[in-house]
Amino acid sequence: MTRSGANRRLVLASRNVGKLNDFRLLFAPLNIELVSVTEFTDEDVEESGATFIENALLKARHAAAVSGLPALADDSGLVVDYLGGEPGIFSARYAGEPVSDARNNQKLLEKLSGVKAADRTAHFHCSLALLASAEDPAPLIAEGRWLGRIAEQLAGGGGFGYDPLFLPKGLTGSAAELSSAQKNSQSHRGQALQQLVPAMANWVGFVFNE
Ligand code: IMP
Repeated sequence: MTRSGANRRLVLASRNVGKLNDFRLLFAPLNIELVSVTEFTDEDVEESGATFIENALLKARHAAAVSGLPALADDSGLVVDYLGGEPGIFSARYAGEPVSDARNNQKLLEKLSGVKAADRTAHFHCSLALLASAEDPAPLIAEGRWLGRIAEQLAGGGGFGYDPLFLPKGLTGSAAELSSAQKNSQSHRGQALQQLVPAMANWVGFVFNE
């Protein structure tokens, strides 16, 4: 029997419309409809984990609990070696509230002031967690790392967050100077998704009872 996939719904534990659209494109070939957690609740779970994957699991579990659907969450950030891994899981709020990419980038530049190019190594990290239900004891997990260095000045108008300061290894220029397609093909999020999607082939049949 061929299934249309009409019952294959998955909740994304993010309120970010850009992310929802990106993930929707990737899941369309699997016949999975992605809905935002915003459709079920206005409350966010506290991201109290010490690692990206713990926070992704907290978000996915919360989204599965409020929706009754399988859930996908991602958690990502920038890890700077010279700063002992800062800003890490605090990347979004590095310079405090209200969240501001411009102030985060300024703070990073100040913290690295006078540090030579060879010591400015960093990477973006992305953890993805997929839960069949809030009680699922065996989540599917995928992770990606994008290696590079922190520039001494901002460059480029694309992307978001720390992209204007991130110089991907092997390229000239910043992540903010790449097209979305170029960035997705090599970024931490792109790498994690490239692992997750094939791993989902069996999972889909199991979770949606096909
Ligand atoms: P989140 O996982 O989407 O909440 O991302 C956390 C924070 O990490 C963002 O607010 C950005 O500051 C930073 N970040 C994550 N991914 C990227 C990226 O691809 N480019 C630039 N900054 C990023």
